[in-house]
Amino acid sequence: MSGPGEAREIADGFLTRAARGRAAGGQRRIGLLIIASPMGLMRSAFLAGSQSRWLRERAVRYRFVHRAVSRFMPGEDLDGALVAAKGLKAKGIGSVLTYLGENLKDLREAEQVTRHYLDVLKRAGDAALDAEISVKLTQLGLDLGPAACETALLTLLESAAASRTWVWVDMESSAYTDATLDIYRRARARFANVGVCVQAYLRRTEQDLKTLIPLGGGLRLVKGAYREPPEKAYPSKRDVDANYFSLATRLLGRDARQAGVRAIFGTHDPVLIGRIERAGQEANLRPQDLEFQMLYGIRRDEQARLTAAGHRIRVLISYGDAWFPWYMRRLAERPANVLFVVRNLFAD
Ligand SMILES: Cc1cc2nc3c(=O)[nH]c(=O)nc-3n(C[C@H](O)[C@H](O)[C@H](O)COP(=O)(O)OP(=O)(O)OC[C@H]3O[C@@H](n4cnc5c(N)ncnc54)[C@H](O)[C@@H]3O)c2cc1C
Repeated sequence: MSGPGEAREIADGFLTRAARGRAAGGQRRIGLLIIASPMGLMRSAFLAGSQSRWLRERAVRYRFVHRAVSRFMPGEDLDGALVAAKGLKAKGIGSVLTYLGENLKDLREAEQVTRHYLDVLKRAGDAALDAEISVKLTQLGLDLGPAACETALLTLLESAAASRTWVWVDMESSAYTDATLDIYRRARARFANVGVCVQAYLRRTEQDLKTLIPLGGGLRLVKGAYREPPEKAYPSKRDVDANYFSLATRLLGRDARQAGVRAIFGTHDPVLIGRIERAGQEANLRPQDLEFQMLYGIRRDEQARLTAAGHRIRVLISYGDAWFPWYMRRLAERPANVLFVVRNLFAD
């Protein structure tokens, strides 16, 4: 199914439903974050869309949406992701593989995800790819309680350690921050090859770093991709960027280095990247002491420049058929990406 008529139909349907939710004072209220500008409104709308089952069920039926998604995803299955990882390795870029999915409500499905990741680790190891994995705890069953999810993470860590690679724990919405950090801390006490993502838009992250840095391990700093209320997250992009740099300097600081932290700067923002490079030089770090990670398909020019400058760089490759909420978050990050969706609407 494809065509401008269908696109208008799903957009109208979603907006009508969102407005109805607002009128009823329902939970579907749009605009908890950054609604002071048209861009902020778009961001809020996409983040609301990422949680809409109605929109998901319709959008995934359209070919033009699949075509637009492929810009950020080399394929919907592991084979495509492994081919992409091989191509990146040839350019001196490592990869991080992530199988899309979140908020699983059935333990058997979560166990299947664990088995899938064990297969990923084996296939990436057999192919001698420079690949790590990144997992969402709600995809390992966190909504069903921490115990099974923690056991699954430990199973993956054991296998990754045998393959001499790392497991990253994604950070999801703020409803999961405490549970995610608790599980991370316990996993870190047993394994050296584990890292967790921290979000610069959260006001609490500065405090969290005070207890996370002494643990060593991996800390991947990102801006944050979920819809959060202003009491939890900085509402303005300027404040998020300022906090990102302030947290980055903590991760580059002596305490973090002495604790053996593997600091990752997960951003495509050229201004922040430049500031981090200069801060690294001022701290007498070598280029290879700075590690950046970006998402597949975004800022390839910058990925090549950072590699040429001698920094370590990895690209996070997402794949799988549960791409809808993840793709909506990518649109929220850069509403200009809607142009890609529109362009695909008119492609053959
Ligand atoms: C490796 C990695 C792991 C991540 N893991 C998590 C996680 O676990 N939890 C979480 O909440 N978030 C995660 N994110 C997403 C992150 O929070 C941001 O939403 C995302 O990286 C966009 O922010 P930015 O730092 O690139 O800066 P922005 O200010 O959003 O963008 C800066 C510039 O980068 C480019 N750009 C950014 N996004 C896009 C896009 N979608 N399409 C095209 N160009 C774009 C544009 O040129 C833009 O001007 C991750 C990001 C990366 C790179």
